[in-house]
Amino acid sequence: MWLQEAPKKSEALTVRAYFDAVDGARIECWGVKRVTRMRSHPAKRIMPVEYDAQILKLRLPEQDALKNEAERCSADPTMLSSIGRAVGHQVRIKRKDVPGFVALYTVKQANPPSDLSDPSRADVVRTGQTGRERLGATGEMAAVVQATVVDPAPVPGEPYEVKFFEVAEDSCKQAYLIAIAPHGGAIEEHTDEEAEQVGRELISHGYPASTWICKGYGDDLKGASERWHITSGDLHPASFPQLQRLITRKFCYGVAFHGFSQRSSEADVYIGGGASQSLKRAIKRALEASNLPVKIKIAATSDDPKFQGFSPENIINRLAAQGIHIEQSAQARRFSKDIAKAIVTVYRSRWRRLFCTWMKLLR
Ligand SMILES: [Zn+2]
Repeated sequence: MWLQEAPKKSEALTVRAYFDAVDGARIECWGVKRVTRMRSHPAKRIMPVEYDAQILKLRLPEQDALKNEAERCSADPTMLSSIGRAVGHQVRIKRKDVPGFVALYTVKQANPPSDLSDPSRADVVRTGQTGRERLGATGEMAAVVQATVVDPAPVPGEPYEVKFFEVAEDSCKQAYLIAIAPHGGAIEEHTDEEAEQVGRELISHGYPASTWICKGYGDDLKGASERWHITSGDLHPASFPQLQRLITRKFCYGVAFHGFSQRSSEADVYIGGGASQSLKRAIKRALEASNLPVKIKIAATSDDPKFQGFSPENIINRLAAQGIHIEQSAQARRFSKDIAKAIVTVYRSRWRRLFCTWMKLLR
């Protein structure tokens, strides 16, 4: 598939796909009320947005790091570059024989040197068995690697079907707070509603807030999480146009909502992220004040790394100076409205807003 010319402004969905696909393109700021303005693209460019690939097994032991990594693969950097992607970005991979199998992957590394030195293997993508199972097969297969990761957001009333898209609400100016849900929709249910509620309630109380949410939906072939989940530390702004626009702002505060499948020894809510312990304690106190039937814990280094969110690579720590990463069991997410409401109380704080202004001035 080739992209040959800039679409007309009236072709809203096509415009989005076009801008997503063209390297270096920009989407203009969206108002809080979701007013969309786009400027015409200065030059017509011709760039492929996908290439045919063969999905092969890993080369072991040199690719041991990708074993059991369902969301990660290796690919040829030159082929990635031909569609405007690079190692570290996300891509979509679609099976050729059964196109209903489509999933997101992070290209975590370049192919092994023996592939890179053989021109006949330029189209090779390698992933472990769990990675191939994401496409519904354990063996090797023909597929298409696609540069465009996010679908156009559905218009009101449009069925969600198998889709993955991002939604941002942003005034383009404020840097006080961002609430995010990278795994919304049916990937980690109710987390998108929590981010939306935090943004909405803060704004209604006169505090600035932005949101960034990805929503994914699956079907009987594959569920949403198996198709669309990308771990928070891997999310690359180059693959998410709306995230790209927000990532350089460096918000004072950020809250990321996540969900997990709980084991018997685990708490219901883990408060992690790169933020200070005092902010985490304030979040914990606010949640406990809601008297919900859930066990709440501030994540520690002894907890499973997925609960910690401490890494600077975690998307909420890249977006915000004080990033809070909240993991919630299904039981906790039954109370998603109460949890979001409790968290809003922490950020409805004149002192925090003043502190944020000072920090910005000092910077
Ligand atoms: Zn998550």
